[in-house]
Amino acid sequence: MKHIKSDSRRFPKSGSVSLVGAGPGDPDLITVRGANALSHADVVVYDRLVNPELLKMTRDGSEHIYVGKRAGKPSVSQDQINRILLSKALEGKFVVRLKGGDPFVFGRGGEECEALSGAGIRYEVVPGISSALAAPAFAGIPVTHRKLARSFTVITGHTIRGEDDAEVLRSAGESDTLIILMGLKNLEEIARRLIGFGRAPDTPAAVVERASYLNQRTVVGTLSTIGERAEGMESPATIIISPLAAMANDLSWFDQEETTEVEASPQLKSKIVG
Ligand code: SAH
Repeated sequence: MKHIKSDSRRFPKSGSVSLVGAGPGDPDLITVRGANALSHADVVVYDRLVNPELLKMTRDGSEHIYVGKRAGKPSVSQDQINRILLSKALEGKFVVRLKGGDPFVFGRGGEECEALSGAGIRYEVVPGISSALAAPAFAGIPVTHRKLARSFTVITGHTIRGEDDAEVLRSAGESDTLIILMGLKNLEEIARRLIGFGRAPDTPAAVVERASYLNQRTVVGTLSTIGERAEGMESPATIIISPLAAMANDLSWFDQEETTEVEASPQLKSKIVG
């Protein structure tokens, strides 16, 4: 087996861009490689969902550019972000493009790589812990479980109203565990449609808000009740629809406060314990 090169030998990388996944929120959840990249960065270009605490890992004199949405101001367009990455790299800087979760999971990382590749700029991708996996983990909801859930699917709930997306939801809904990002606003509609596609109305469902932050909150309900139960919850939040979602009641280990409605069925519990 080839030895993995020590990370320190990979720097400096002037004139290149490292797309780094920051993880879901808690700064400890960035990878060692991501933290190394941050500590060597000349420029950090970061999003709204990145915990600003992570910027403390950067060295003195590094430049920090926020490109997330700002109240009252138009958000920085993807084109503008691409231009910033290109121009800073062309100046010979080592640029870290820091993104919430994983850069390639609904993070437009692909578009940024296309722009960099098109301009002949070197780049690397440092995967991060996606909220798609961190939210269930921090709520005590396994996404697979022997005999109970053998598949999971991750979709965006943002564009769920169109006909094309109805098809995406229908096929995704056949997975044992369905994980939905950016779906909070459309939660009622999503649940209604899934029931329409034949998913049992009493299928457990959970919403995890601000996963891995100290004020993380989880609500658990069923497909027929989750819309109402999640009222008042705010973005960022991840929705989990799965027979395993009710396990949050027993396996929750992180939430300060949890509101819950359905109990895991005795059958499910015995399978898990036994
Ligand atoms: N690339 C990111 C996802 C970006 S889309 C990743 O891999 O995590 C943004 C969506 O991610 C949010 O609308 C929300 O659904 C989810 N999300 C991000 N951070 C979250 C968090 N701390 N807790 C729960 N959901 C989160």
